Amino acid sequence: MSLPTLDRVLDAVLRIDTNFDIKFVSEAGQRWLVQLLGADIPANFIDILHPKDIERFKDVLHDSPESFSCDLRVIKGSGECWVNLRSYQLTGVHQYVICIIDISVWKANDSAFRHAAEHDDLTGLPNRAFLKNAVDALIQENTPAFSIALLDLDGFKKVNDTFGHAMGDAVLVETTRRLVKIIGPQDVLARLGGDEFVVLFSDKSAIGAQEALANVLLAVARPYDTAPHNAYLGVSVGVAQYPSHGQDYSTVLKNADTAMYFSKNAGKNRISIYTPTDVSVDFSIKAAIHNGIQEGEFYMDYQPQYDIQRNLIGAEALMRWKSRDFGNVPPDKFIPIAEESGLMPFLGKWALRYSCHQLRRFQEWMPDFVMSVNVSPVQFGSDGFDTLVLDAIEETGIDPSRLILEITESTLMQSQERTERALGNLRERGVRFSIDDFGTGFSSLAYLTRLPVSSIKIDKAFVRAIQDERKASQSDRKLITAMINLAHSIDLKVVAEGVENEAQFAFLEGAGCNLIQGYLLGKPMSAVAISSLPGLTRGVAA
Ligand code: C2E
Ligand code: CA
Ligand code: CA
Repeated sequence: MSLPTLDRVLDAVLRIDTNFDIKFVSEAGQRWLVQLLGADIPANFIDILHPKDIERFKDVLHDSPESFSCDLRVIKGSGECWVNLRSYQLTGVHQYVICIIDISVWKANDSAFRHAAEHDDLTGLPNRAFLKNAVDALIQENTPAFSIALLDLDGFKKVNDTFGHAMGDAVLVETTRRLVKIIGPQDVLARLGGDEFVVLFSDKSAIGAQEALANVLLAVARPYDTAPHNAYLGVSVGVAQYPSHGQDYSTVLKNADTAMYFSKNAGKNRISIYTPTDVSVDFSIKAAIHNGIQEGEFYMDYQPQYDIQRNLIGAEALMRWKSRDFGNVPPDKFIPIAEESGLMPFLGKWALRYSCHQLRRFQEWMPDFVMSVNVSPVQFGSDGFDTLVLDAIEETGIDPSRLILEITESTLMQSQERTERALGNLRERGVRFSIDDFGTGFSSLAYLTRLPVSSIKIDKAFVRAIQDERKASQSDRKLITAMINLAHSIDLKVVAEGVENEAQFAFLEGAGCNLIQGYLLGKPMSAVAISSLPGLTRGVAA
C-alpha cells in the first residue's frame, strides 16, 4: 500500500493515534479537508466528524479495532458530507490509518432507492425499515422521551371480505389521507402492513400523544364511502413510550402492541397506554361518551317534518354531543363508536326518554304533533327494549300513536323472532314504525307487509339525485316513483328526507310523496325554535 497511489484514489488518508489526534494527512487530503471544512484542519480527528456520527465512529472503532468500513458524515461548512471511512490498525504503534472517500454524490442517487426501500407501495407511507431507522436515530440523538402508537383498524377484515380487496386498499388509502392531516410534521406516520399503522411521536410522552390520538379515533369513525354502502370502521390503539416502557425500538414497539391488544380485548375503538403492570388507562371516546351523558353534554335537536301542503306535522329528534374534550361531535361519528363499544343501549335510552319528554311539551301546544326518534339496530336488539319504550311513554304520559320509531333495514334483518316480538308488543300499544334510509338496505317490500310498519323514509341519497331533468338522474327518479307506488300499494306512507330545493320538492310532490323533511323547509333546530315555528297550532296529523 503506497501512499502516492492512495493519494490519487482516495479523497483523504490520515493517520491518528488512540486519542484521535491527527498525526498525518495526505497532500490531497489536506486540500480536500480545508475546502470541505472551510477552515484549517483541526488537531483532533473527532472535530472533523459530524456531531451526530461521533458516537457511532467511536463504537465501531471500539468493536472492530483491527479494521472496519462504514458510511458516516463529516462536517462540511455548516452542513454535512457523507463519506465512506475505512480504518486499519497499525500494529506496534497504536495508531490507525483512516481512508476517506466522499460518497455524497452516490448518496444522493441512492436516496431514490432508499425511498423505495423505506416506503410502502400502496399508501406511500414510510414502512417498518424507515420506522426502525427513525427510532434508532432518536435514541442515538439522546432524545429524552418519545412514544410509539400502534394503530390497528377494527372491522377492516369485514370490508375486505364484503367489498373485495380493491375496496380494502381504497379504505387503507383513505385512512392514510385522514391520518396524515392529524399527524404533525415532526412525527412519523408509518404503515407496518395490512391494516396496521404506527405513529412515532418524536418528542411526546404517551400522555402527550393523547390529543392527536383522540383525533385519530374520530377521523377513522367517519363513514367510508364503499359504494353502494358506507362502511364503518374503528381503530384500536396501543401506546408505549421511551425510555420508561423500553430502551430500544423492538421493546417499545412490542409493548405498544401489548397495549393495542388490550384495547382490542376491552371492546375495540379506544386508546390504551402500556403499563408494565398491565393496568391500562382508559382514555377512550367511550369514556368521554359515558362522562358526557352524566355531565349533560348531550342534547337533542329537532328537524321539522311537513306534509305535502307544507303544514307542520312533527319533527325528527336528532342527537347532538357538545363534548368538553372533542368539541361538537356529529352523530355519524359518535353513534358508531357507541354501538361498537356497547354504550348504545345506554345512550339510546337517554335519547328516547329525552325525546318523549319533549314530545309531551310539544303535544301541549299541538296535540297531534308527531315525534320521530331514531333507534339503532344495536339498541333494538338489546333485551327489554320494548319495556323501555313503554316505560318512557308511561313516565311522560304521551299519546303513543304520536311516537314514531325510525328503524333501519338492518334492524329487521337481525334475530327476526325477537325483533318481531318487540315490534308487535309496541305496535299493540299504538307506537308506529318507519323504515329509515329506505333503499340502501336489502329488505323486500313483501317482508314489510308482515310487519307493523307505517311508513318508509326514502334515503337522502336518492333525493339528492333528483337535481334537474338531466339524464343521469332519470333512473333515480324512476326508482323513487316505483318505491312510492309500491309503498302506497301496501298502505305505507312515504317520507322524503334531505329535501334541499324546490325542484326536488316539486318532483316528490308529483310522485305522490306524503311527508317532506329537509333543509328546504327547516334545518335541525332547538326545541324552543320548533315551538315558535309558524303553523305549530294549525298542524294536521299524519
Ligand atoms: P338520519 O336518521 O338519516 O337523519 C337525517 C340526517 O340528515 C341528519 O343528520 C340531518 O341533520 C340530515 N339532514 C336533514 N335534512 C337534510 C338536508 O336537507 N340535506 C342534507 N344533506 N342533510 C340533511 P345528523 O343529525 O347528522 O344525523 C346523522 C345520523 O345519525 C342520523 O341519520 C341517524 O342515523 C343518526 N342519529 C342521529 N340521532 C340519533 C339518535 O338519537 N339515535 C340514533 N340511534 N341515531 C341517531
Ligand atoms: Ca332518521
Ligand atoms: Ca335517514
